[in-house]
Amino acid sequence: LPKRYEGSEKSVWVEYIQLALEYKPLNLGQGFPDYPPPEYITNALSKVANGENYMVHQYTRGFHFQNFIQKKIGREINPETEILTTLGAYEALFSTITGHVDEGDEVIIIEPFFDCYEPMVRYAGGIPRFIPLRSKDVSNSRPSSADWVLDKDELAGLFNNKTKAIILNTPNNPLGKVFTEQELIHIADLCKKWNVLCISDEVYEWIVYKPNKHIRIATLPGMWERTITIGSAGKTFSVTGWKLGWAYGPANLMVNLQMIHQNSVYTGVTPIQEAAAIGFEKELKRLDDDESYFVSLARELESKRNFMANFLSDVGMKPIVPEGGYFMIADWSPLESKVDLNSEKDKYKDYRFTKWMTKNIGLQGIPPTAFYSKPNKSLAENLVRYCFIKKDQNLEEAASILRKWK
Ligand code: PMP
Ligand code: GLN
Repeated sequence: LPKRYEGSEKSVWVEYIQLALEYKPLNLGQGFPDYPPPEYITNALSKVANGENYMVHQYTRGFHFQNFIQKKIGREINPETEILTTLGAYEALFSTITGHVDEGDEVIIIEPFFDCYEPMVRYAGGIPRFIPLRSKDVSNSRPSSADWVLDKDELAGLFNNKTKAIILNTPNNPLGKVFTEQELIHIADLCKKWNVLCISDEVYEWIVYKPNKHIRIATLPGMWERTITIGSAGKTFSVTGWKLGWAYGPANLMVNLQMIHQNSVYTGVTPIQEAAAIGFEKELKRLDDDESYFVSLARELESKRNFMANFLSDVGMKPIVPEGGYFMIADWSPLESKVDLNSEKDKYKDYRFTKWMTKNIGLQGIPPTAFYSKPNKSLAENLVRYCFIKKDQNLEEAASILRKWK
């Protein structure tokens, strides 16, 4: 195994999907809806597949959603040079990171982070520098992801001449934190001061709960020129299996992604791109209206979020209510005496907890130490991540499984 891949052999997704297949728990682990996507998007795909234009079944050039993004960021995007469609946000991240990070470059990663950031930086020969969001003291209220913040000086202290990039993820997976304008300005100022690239993973951009607002860091003064923003149709239209993502930013940075893309993937999946384009056109006409899917999705998820926070609290866990995204982190340690942690062999307690729960109680969550660097994993051992983009019936089932157990 080439040295640069060492340490990335294990994937929490591969392991936990296998576990789910084997034990058939109620699955609140991997993030995907367990109910149908909106009809107009699946209709668009069948129309594309069976339509007169049979060329949609052949290679395409990158299909561009620039109209839509233009409207959101208030600037024109050149479809040829400033946007790239990719195989999921994964490929957008991969092309961005490997297209920019050189041997020995430092990349700042905010914890908890979507787990692939670290191996991708290492594959490129880069050195990840981690900084955890830290929870403010909130002893009596119900904690929210807004209580988790970066220490300003700690962040400033990470920037230096070797810093190539910072990876930002807002709304954050797994915590659900939506970065505020003030927080983004602080990050932006440091990026400008140290001439650093900002890689902004915004795949949950539409899933934000009121009164929080999603702010695109690329729209802050002086940031367009140094930001690559990443999105995902899988999250946008609740079709994670479509694996369609995109990255946009200034042409002089995008050439680096195009280079990786053209030599490793070449082009995306034509009919999927065509169908997503139809979806975007429909949404463009009703953006911010009540019936817009992006508005209705967040509304629907908000009640699921509240339902989950309530049942987790009822059984004695301490949920952190997310401001965005469809995951919830909860502290399960008040229930530790009811769990046989010794029956599992994993090093980290959250792995043992989630495995024991899957096998013995029939409910699956994800161990959040997967989203931390080795030195900081101890920050997450008492936590579990549950996904709530699930049928109400299944959320009720999860609640009843926990109540019965408790
Ligand atoms: N970034 C984050 C924060 C995610 O949660 C996901 C979901 N897997 C991705 C990127 C990758 O998205 P996609 O499924 O479009 O590759
Ligand atoms: N983004 C999803 C999650 O966090 C799926 C990740 C994956 O399957 N690799 O659960």
